[in-house]
Amino acid sequence: MSTSCSHIRCHGCDFKGVIHHSPTILQYHLPNGQIVEGYRRSAWCSSCGDVTEAEKSLEPATIQAEIDSINSSHLGFFTRILKKVLGGGDAWREERDKLTAKLLLAQMRRSPPRCLRCGNAPVHTLAFDENGISDIVHSCGRRLYGVPEDRDATRLFYKPVVIALDPEGHRLCPS
Ligand SMILES: [Zn+2]
Ligand SMILES: [Zn+2]
Repeated sequence: MSTSCSHIRCHGCDFKGVIHHSPTILQYHLPNGQIVEGYRRSAWCSSCGDVTEAEKSLEPATIQAEIDSINSSHLGFFTRILKKVLGGGDAWREERDKLTAKLLLAQMRRSPPRCLRCGNAPVHTLAFDENGISDIVHSCGRRLYGVPEDRDATRLFYKPVVIALDPEGHRLCPS
């Protein structure tokens, strides 16, 4: 898959960008005190002029569907199976509460996903066609492309980084 590349180059200049696969955890702090975990994705930020990590957008419809499926599973025939999967007891309820908080966040969110480096929005999704060419045009006027992954390359392991954000994706200062 061409999307697995870790290095981005430009067809027009000597730009080099690196996609970091570091395990970043996003924690959104809701006004009611709840904390919702979110995901990061690699993206292109025009403000940074670089490959960056950005928020992954939350889709209310997808989250609602997950909640519906948990609710119907609990009421229906699959209760026991679900309980098994989630470790029995009231784990399903916890899972549903987590999703409900996530849905609340998705519904209150007004701005598009932000760059986690500079905080600006919007960012552009990094996607590549079958030739590894992205639809992002660099400042030099040519397109960026992904360099196929070197399978023998040394893999770096990063400690997970936790980033605290408000519901609009602005970084919260550590208190
Ligand atoms: Zn360029
Ligand atoms: Zn940026």
